[in-house]
Amino acid sequence: MAEQPLLITGGRVVTWEPEAELIDDGAVYLADGQVVAVGTAAELDAAYPDAERLDARGQLIMPGNVCAHTHFYGAFARGMAIPGPAPKDFPEILERLWWPLDQALDEEAVRYSALVCLVDAVKHGTTTLIDHHASPNALEGSLDVIADAVQQAGLRAVLCYEVTDRYGEASAQASIEENVRFIKAARDYPMLAGTFGLHASLTLSEETLAASADAAEGLGTGFHVHVAEHESDEYDSLARSGKRVVDRLQAHGILGPRSIVAHTVHIDMREAAILRETGTWVTHQPRSNMNNAVGVADVEGMLRLGIPVCLGNDGFSNNMWAEWKTAYLLHKAWHRNPRRMNGMDVVQMAIHNNAALAGVFFPDAQPGLLVPGAAADVILVDYHPTTPLTAGNLPWHILFGFESSMVTSTIAGGKLLMHDRELLTLDEAAIAARAREIVPEVWARYEANVQQVL
Ligand SMILES: [Zn+2]
Repeated sequence: MAEQPLLITGGRVVTWEPEAELIDDGAVYLADGQVVAVGTAAELDAAYPDAERLDARGQLIMPGNVCAHTHFYGAFARGMAIPGPAPKDFPEILERLWWPLDQALDEEAVRYSALVCLVDAVKHGTTTLIDHHASPNALEGSLDVIADAVQQAGLRAVLCYEVTDRYGEASAQASIEENVRFIKAARDYPMLAGTFGLHASLTLSEETLAASADAAEGLGTGFHVHVAEHESDEYDSLARSGKRVVDRLQAHGILGPRSIVAHTVHIDMREAAILRETGTWVTHQPRSNMNNAVGVADVEGMLRLGIPVCLGNDGFSNNMWAEWKTAYLLHKAWHRNPRRMNGMDVVQMAIHNNAALAGVFFPDAQPGLLVPGAAADVILVDYHPTTPLTAGNLPWHILFGFESSMVTSTIAGGKLLMHDRELLTLDEAAIAARAREIVPEVWARYEANVQQVL
């Protein structure tokens, strides 16, 4: 990393490790892409007298947020009309929204879908993103196109291509190769990593699952796949294989401590036990689950079982605090019980488990925490509490007080990406203007695709 060492002073440091810790009049020293020291401003001023300084002006100094499951490719769905009668359930949402849209993306649309999400991520202080991509008509090299955008932004990302049988055998094979190629290519880039994407059990044959597992052999990779987001995934799996989804994936060697399964809304207790036994990561996306009306995962039960449940956004805004708030509220409403989903459970997912998951992909630079040796991924939050703020009540200040617009500066890998709300690596206006130019063509192709399934 060629970035200059940077000493951030004059703020209140939130480390999150080992528990939420607040350092008043704190400072953080960043060098070589890592957090080198965390302490009081007096200590670090004395230790690094010549360092370039960034004055936090009383703001909170926090680690950048991690998003455990997202889809850049869905960016152009915003404001898009879905022709025909409104989808009545999640399978119809897939058939009439996401699948016709992923087919409508060309290479430039892939690039700009990613760029608009990355602008959003920088502005919302989300510095590590785990993406799950599909663009069957711009498949080969699509992960490089996204990786280019990520590098331009200066953020940290884990990319994969979702293998599916939806577009025939040749496309499935090409998507397997895209994963393998990118997993190897990403090894040369400190801010990028690859994993092996699979869409979901319900669009994967026994042959394609086996071929994916074979192709992944020896790469040291796990998989990233949707699991039991809707009950149809379970019924389909039982019909195909006589097994429930998690059992089926386990039989193919898809699970394990490097694998991510998103949603798990409809798994049963045995499936939860298998996820626990295999050390598989689960991601929870409450905004998406509510929007798709698929139900609510037993997140507290899974956490209690020892499953590392993380927090993603499934392509919703990269404002992770909005996802925190939704998780906090949804489980209370679902159970009609204000004691459900304690704020500390949200912290367990969004901070500790997300950081640990990011550490699987970036073992040399632990993202998501603010401790010596962690990645130099830091945000400044212009939050001035009107009630006492302590380490113990910080989660509730975030849940009830934080707004995404309070992120004023974003640093990733030691590089300043936004300072005082001004983006330094991405030209937001130019990206938005070009996106608005190309989206009408994407929407026209989408509409033509939808007509074929209506
Ligand atoms: Zn998803």
